[in-house]
Amino acid sequence: MLDELRRIVTEVARSSDLRSALDVIARRVQDALQVDVCSVYVLTPAEPAREAALILQATEGLNQSGIGSVRLNLNEGLVGLVARRAEPVNLENAPDHPAFKFIHDIGEEYYHGFLGVPIIHRGEVLGVLVVQSRAQRRFSADQESFLVTLAAQLASGIRQAQVSGELSQDSAAHPGWESAVTAQGLAGSPGVVFGTAVPVLDVVDLDNIPTRPVEDPATEWAVLSAAIDAVRVEFAQLKQDFSRAAGSTDEHVLFDAFILMLSGGSLVDSMHERVMGGHSAGIALRDAVREHTAVFEQMADAYLRERAQDIRDLGNRILIKLQARTQGPRQWPERIVLIGHDLSASHLAEIPTERLVGIVSSSGSGSSHLAILARALGIPAAMGVADLPLARLDGQEVVVDGYRGWLIVRPTGSYRQELLRLAREEAALTAELASLSDEPAQTLDGVRIGLHVNIGLLADMAPSRTVGAEGIGLYRTEVPFQIRKQFPGEAEQAHIYREAMETFRGQPVVLRTLDVGGDKPLSYFPIKEDNPFLGWRGIRLVLDHPEIFLTQIRAMLRASIGLDNLGILLPMIGSIDELTTAREYIDQALTELREEGEPVATPRIGVMIEVPSAVYQIDLITEMVDFLSIGTNDLTQYILAIDRNNERVASRYDALHPAVLRAINEVVDAGHLLGREITVCGELAGDPMGAILLLGLGVDVLSMSAGSLPRIKWVIRRFTAADARHYLSQALAARRPQEVRRMLYDALVERGLGGLVRAGA
Ligand code: PEP
Ligand code: MG
Repeated sequence: MLDELRRIVTEVARSSDLRSALDVIARRVQDALQVDVCSVYVLTPAEPAREAALILQATEGLNQSGIGSVRLNLNEGLVGLVARRAEPVNLENAPDHPAFKFIHDIGEEYYHGFLGVPIIHRGEVLGVLVVQSRAQRRFSADQESFLVTLAAQLASGIRQAQVSGELSQDSAAHPGWESAVTAQGLAGSPGVVFGTAVPVLDVVDLDNIPTRPVEDPATEWAVLSAAIDAVRVEFAQLKQDFSRAAGSTDEHVLFDAFILMLSGGSLVDSMHERVMGGHSAGIALRDAVREHTAVFEQMADAYLRERAQDIRDLGNRILIKLQARTQGPRQWPERIVLIGHDLSASHLAEIPTERLVGIVSSSGSGSSHLAILARALGIPAAMGVADLPLARLDGQEVVVDGYRGWLIVRPTGSYRQELLRLAREEAALTAELASLSDEPAQTLDGVRIGLHVNIGLLADMAPSRTVGAEGIGLYRTEVPFQIRKQFPGEAEQAHIYREAMETFRGQPVVLRTLDVGGDKPLSYFPIKEDNPFLGWRGIRLVLDHPEIFLTQIRAMLRASIGLDNLGILLPMIGSIDELTTAREYIDQALTELREEGEPVATPRIGVMIEVPSAVYQIDLITEMVDFLSIGTNDLTQYILAIDRNNERVASRYDALHPAVLRAINEVVDAGHLLGREITVCGELAGDPMGAILLLGLGVDVLSMSAGSLPRIKWVIRRFTAADARHYLSQALAARRPQEVRRMLYDALVERGLGGLVRAGA
């Protein structure tokens, strides 16, 4: 049965679209389980104008006319029961069950044995896979597991088809209806924007070919056949080179086989037929390759099965040539929403950033560095939006709701109007916030709090000046290290740091020492570990490499000469020994420079409080430093034991968790007892709800992305410190983060600030 399962999964994966994948499942499962019926129902979620419904999308055994027209709501029948319970239902005689519902006209009346399993994607029921038998029969545990495994494989494909619109028939059938497909992820950077989807596709990927209309099949075929010819010529050349070098080899034989395949025959014919049938060259290539690989994959002989990979390689080679021929200069839409699987800062460099209005990433969460960057740029972002059908989204109108982490595809009707209103309100909010830049960050009862910026690139500096930041609270120095090809030397680093310190002359500039490892890799210093977040990162790494640490400290000190506004911040300190050693190196660098005749002033030294052990020794740590900076991103990750980058657990990651708040509370108390300045530089400081509580705690400085600063200033100016203290005491006593969020949400809405946490609220 395992073999059967593997074969079905491979065949499904090779299907050109979801409909054919569902047909394959229905057919193959009917065969494998020897059942009379196999059907797939897909759930259409509820929308304002209609209820959620399970729609029959494929069947083998029932009347095909029911496909697309049989709709069951969630309270109907055994299929509804499976979806409601989100677990398998296995019945020997279905008509005996009270939930059984007889559906006319599809021939269901003859069936008794019933097994239905839910199709679940990330905790959400997307549909139901059902098998039925004429005879009374209870399906075995093995058969049940078989179906459950298959349903799990189907889930991601269904999700993608929903998002790309492949499965939505409603707006066409009912033009008046409001409709849209919403892919839900995690809040990344606030804001609501409309734009055109620009997917970042892998350079060569046969499974990710955008569909596009074809004007003239003959021209299309000319392009494809030229690409095929080019690959054939390449193989002929390779064959010659190999024969010269090694005589007759295995490769030689393989090249002959490839050349033959490309000179005509079924692969080329199949492409030709598809292009003439109206498909684009890329799609024709993809489908012909899939058809041929499927034949090999079904073979029992392992050697022949492997040949499927050869055909895929061949397809990839043709695709490279094809892309080289068809890619003219890229036409960028006016408003770009960049969408991709593993987006990083380098992808932003490839597009005209002045047109970038939104970012959607299928991986990561609100505390990933891409989200931090989006907030610095003031661009709405949704993170961890899984299973995006990238190629099929190309050029579509989309809306990014960065508050909720949603990507809304092709909204229509009144829903679109509503989203347009939100986007307009959002633009008005941004304009209003801009007018606050010269106002002080002061509460209604006269308490002032420092608002500083977090930066990583010199490019971040310009927006920090315009939003009215009073200093740099966190300079992530690993960023300039990451964009270089090797460790920058002392002079190069000093130059970079000096620019920041000069820009903020007369105001504090806190430079954090190198914090690589974890999710911040250096390409030229690869670290491979099973648990990188618990491994060699931050201060642990540089203390093992004093040459790197000393060079950096010397560069920081040198850059501060004459400006004297430097604070050095040590990340990931987890023990007194680490702090002692780091301080010794700083003293060593100071002594060296002074001996060299440099007039360096003694900098302020601070520690990031982001490792739980530091919280429990906070009294001892505080005695040894000038200031504390609480890194709530890592502190939350380590206190809750939840990876800050893992979208699967991201809904559980919450810096407003009362346990995290209690830890922060202890740090602030201990720090203030000795009169030390306390900054919060994690993302909590830039979150309107977090800022209220940190104000209540009496934190001295909040440091955040430039994009968040105006929002936080607005919050500070609408609250009294006394109110903030009241909310804090409630939050510390709360049992769960949701209670804290609800309370703070109401507090913001009461003061007319609901728009900061959810557009239009
Ligand atoms: C933090 O951990 O809260 C922090 C500010 O540092 P980073 O996000 O760079 O790890
Ligand atoms: Mg950190």
